[in-house]
Amino acid sequence: TEEMIADVTSKMKEDNIKFIRLQFVDINGYVKNIVIPFKEEDVGDLFTEGMLFDGSSIEGFVDINESDLVLKPDIRTYSRLSWRPEESAVCRFICDVWTPEGKPFEGDPRSILKKSLAKITKMGLRYNIGPEPEFFIVNIDEEGNPYPYDEAGYFDVEPLDKGPDFRRELTFNLEELGFEVEASHHEVAPGQNEIAFKFKDALKTADAVITFKQAIKAIVDNIASFDQKNYQVTFMPKPFFGVNGSGMHCHQSVFKGDKNLFSNPNSDTGLSKDALYFIGGLLKHAPALTAITNPIVNSYKRLVPGYEAPVYRAYGFKNRSTLIRIPAARGKATRIEYRAPDPSCNPYLAFAAMLEAGIDGIQNKIDPGDPTEINIYELTDEQREDLGIKVLPSSLWEAYHSLEEDEYILNALGDHISQKFLELKYKEWDEYRVQVFGYEQRKYLDI
Ligand code: GLU
Ligand code: MG
Ligand code: MG
Repeated sequence: TEEMIADVTSKMKEDNIKFIRLQFVDINGYVKNIVIPFKEEDVGDLFTEGMLFDGSSIEGFVDINESDLVLKPDIRTYSRLSWRPEESAVCRFICDVWTPEGKPFEGDPRSILKKSLAKITKMGLRYNIGPEPEFFIVNIDEEGNPYPYDEAGYFDVEPLDKGPDFRRELTFNLEELGFEVEASHHEVAPGQNEIAFKFKDALKTADAVITFKQAIKAIVDNIASFDQKNYQVTFMPKPFFGVNGSGMHCHQSVFKGDKNLFSNPNSDTGLSKDALYFIGGLLKHAPALTAITNPIVNSYKRLVPGYEAPVYRAYGFKNRSTLIRIPAARGKATRIEYRAPDPSCNPYLAFAAMLEAGIDGIQNKIDPGDPTEINIYELTDEQREDLGIKVLPSSLWEAYHSLEEDEYILNALGDHISQKFLELKYKEWDEYRVQVFGYEQRKYLDI
C-alpha cells in the first residue's frame, strides 16, 4: 500500500540508505542480488512494478530464450545491512520473482514455499519453524587444508572456547537485522558453534536462515582479530571425519489462531492426533525429503551412526538417534524436531517439502506407529529390521531416486523446480562419482 511505501521510504532516509540490494535465491538457496541506488522518486514504482532482470544465468531459473523475469521486493523484509558502512548505508529487500506476465515464477524457491503456505492458510492454520543451524569456524593451513579454530567442545567457556567475542559481535549484528537470537553456544566438535533463533512462521524463518548465513560470513570477515587469522565460516555439513557434523534441526508446529494444534493436554503423551499424523507424513516422505533437506554429496557423510545425526526413519521422545524427536515442552511450546536437515539446504524448498509431507499426514491420517526409545545406533541390522525401522538414504544417489519416485513431493515442488533440481543433483553426483580421493589412495595404493 501507499502507506507502507511512505513508511519504508522514510525509514530508508532515516537510515541514510544510499544503496538498495534486491535479493533472491537460486535453486541451491544461494543468495543473488542486484544493487540499485536509492532514489526517493523511484521507490513507488519499485514496489508496484518491480524490476526486470535477466534470469538466464541463475542456476535453476530459465533458458536463454525466455530469460526476462521481474524482481518484486517484499516491503516487509526491509533491513539495513549492519555490516556495511553507516554513512551511505546499504539495505536489502528479499524479492519474489515474477514472470513478465505478472505471475509468480515457478522456478523461484520462495514462491514454492508461499504456495505450500497458502494451502495451509486455507485450512485455517499457520506453520511455524524454529531452526538450529550449526556451523564451523575454520582456518586454512599452509597446505590448503581446513582445521577448526579452537579445541573446545559442547557448552565450553573461554579460554578453551575461542568464540565468545565472535558470538557477541554476531548477536549484536543479528539483532540489528531483526533476529531474535534464542541461544548460542559452542557445539560438540572443535570449531563448531550453534545459534538458534526464535520460531516464526515458515516464510519469515526461511528469509531469516538465508540472511543468517549471509550475515555470519560477512560479519566474520569484518571482525578484525578474525580477519588477520583468515578465519572462515562453513555450513558444510561434515567438514571433518570422525567428529560431529553440522545439522539444522527444524522445530515445527502448526497453530490455529493462538492454539497449538500439536498439543492435547488430555492425551497420555500431551500430543494431539494431528501431531502424530504430521509425524506420520514426515516419516512416510522422509526418503524423498532427504534429497531436499540434505542436498549435497557431503550431506550424507553426516547422516551416519554415532554423531547425533539421524540415520533411521523413526521418532522418539528423548531419542537423538531418531529422525524425529519430540522435545519435552508441552502446551503452546509442543513441537516436533525434524533432525535431518543440514545448513546446506535451500530453506524455502526444505520447509515447503516438510510442510507438504505433514499436510499429507494430517489429511490422510497417516499413523506414525510407536515411538522408539532405544538407541538405534546400538542395534544390529537384524534387530532393527525386526523392529521395522528403515534407514534414511545413505547417499545423494539414493536420495535422488527416492525423490524421483515420490510423486507427491515432486508435485509439491512443481514441475519446474522438480525437473531442474533432479537435473542438477544428477550432474553433481556424476561429477563426484569419478573423483579419486586421498582416502582411496591411502587404502588401495599397495594393491
Ligand atoms: N551436530 C548434530 C547433528 O549433526 C546435532 C547435535 C545436537 O543435537 O545439537 O545433527
Ligand atoms: Mg546442536
Ligand atoms: Mg536440536
